Amino acid sequence: MKHLKQISWDISKKSNPQNKCCYNGKKRTDKYSEPDNIDSILEKIYKSGIEAVYFLGGNPLISKNMSYVLSEFKKQGIVTNLVTNGTKLTIDVFEKLKDSGLNELCVNFDGIEENSISIHRKDKYRLIINNLKNIREKFGERYFLNNAMDKPQISISHTITNQNVDSFLHFARRLYQIGARSINLGFIFNDGNKKKKNKSFNFCCRKKENILLSLEKAFEILSAEYKDMIFNIELRPVYIKYLNMKYGDNFRYKTSYTKCMAHQDFLYLEANGDIHPCNVYSMSGIINFDLDRYMNLELNIKDVNCLSEALSHPRFELFHNMYEDAKHVDATNQTFVPIIICNNCFVKEDCEPCPFQFYAREHYLECEIAFEYYIDLYDKIRDKIIVIPEDSVYILDLQFSRIESKTVDEAVKKSGAIDLIGSVDWKTFQRILSLQKKGLINLE
Ligand code: SF4
Ligand code: SF4
Repeated sequence: MKHLKQISWDISKKSNPQNKCCYNGKKRTDKYSEPDNIDSILEKIYKSGIEAVYFLGGNPLISKNMSYVLSEFKKQGIVTNLVTNGTKLTIDVFEKLKDSGLNELCVNFDGIEENSISIHRKDKYRLIINNLKNIREKFGERYFLNNAMDKPQISISHTITNQNVDSFLHFARRLYQIGARSINLGFIFNDGNKKKKNKSFNFCCRKKENILLSLEKAFEILSAEYKDMIFNIELRPVYIKYLNMKYGDNFRYKTSYTKCMAHQDFLYLEANGDIHPCNVYSMSGIINFDLDRYMNLELNIKDVNCLSEALSHPRFELFHNMYEDAKHVDATNQTFVPIIICNNCFVKEDCEPCPFQFYAREHYLECEIAFEYYIDLYDKIRDKIIVIPEDSVYILDLQFSRIESKTVDEAVKKSGAIDLIGSVDWKTFQRILSLQKKGLINLE
């Protein structure tokens, strides 16, 4: 039987507009009831040897089973992570979560901010901020720190949209003052995730460009002001590397976002017990996905003895076949522009764009921005002389110290550079720049 290590579980009945597993999407609005056979579900989870559970759902804190489930998982040594909108996160609730053994708590602002136009959203923002402030005052800053020893470690997640991007700087500063040191950023590049008649992923490229530009301005300031604030950003890895190169090491990507989780030791469990490889089936605008055939292959936790059994179910088989076909269609037709870029991308081992969602050039705008920057930088330094201080030779990595080149261009060529939009071997180029950053070589 295939091994299953982690699951996402919508344990509460309300649906949630944002999904942690992967890309932004809107779930169907079905109302789920809470499972009443909770012990039998837990048993099936234990039998599968699962190591980590991510609680999503509308708001897991409204689930009557939450504390019990967390305590049971703690006894089994299962790591838990819970996403909540923070409205119910009073001091008492936090204390309960802490005592139940929760490992990570992510408070999701879901695009709301202080300057929200609607009173309701403004009030919700204030309520969440106050809840966080109260926790900070009562328990101190230690739960907010990166790599905190005390659990649950608290992080913040925020959805950037066209409407709120300009207030992101203010938002991040405000959260920093409260004690937050880790912000997860998701994106909605179309107008407020409104359903459109055509494909919902069909956002405007110009809008995406503007959002990224505004955000970068905020990053530039924030990375200089707050060296200890980490931004986990749901954008492609090459763009995050570009941010690191320009502004410092505050920026991270999560492979749980950039790599297909459905191909790993993962599955997604709905509150009604239905099992899926991931939540992509619920998003609108997906392509190369036969939704009817998929939904007809019903699969519920009550039909399996242990959760791992689901991995061999026909629903999963169909899903994986559709995935392979979707990749194949794009590659053979060569219409999938990003595949051409991706084949040469130096972070491709950490990146696997979803063939059901990412099919048009504008979806890869951030990769193009990053590449453009690299090429420009490379052009500026390609003729510079590399000076390796003699006493540093042993610190340099072997491959590079063997290159013995006078110019960056020569080093790139000698290292077996592949030709990519202007002869750049990205790995060598990155190495040269990082050695320069560390002060191990000079580019005169
Ligand atoms: S198929 Fe893979 S990449 Fe696409 S949404 Fe699901 S987990 Fe993410
Ligand atoms: S170019 Fe492709 S592999 Fe590289 S970061 Fe972008 S999507 Fe990922």
